[in-house]
Amino acid sequence: MHERNLPPPPEQRLESVLTVSSDSLVPCAGCGKPFAQRRPNHRYCSPACRMAAFQAKQGKDRAERDAKVRLKLREAIELLEDPTP
Ligand SMILES: [Zn+2]
Repeated sequence: MHERNLPPPPEQRLESVLTVSSDSLVPCAGCGKPFAQRRPNHRYCSPACRMAAFQAKQGKDRAERDAKVRLKLREAIELLEDPTP
């Protein structure tokens, strides 16, 4: 019987969010709530806010694209349905 040296289970300890006093507080680009900015390129208070903003932007882009496609489709359908005189 072989015994394997299994690595110890990884302990992931989340840093406590309560100890943020020295960090600069900036308004979240998503919800506007002030949060501790730990990196200069951080603009959102949480990954959820970042995702929400990203998806909102994507949804807007998609909506605009859908509108254009819908217009083209309508033109195409009208061309197809229009009996040639
Ligand atoms: Zn936020």
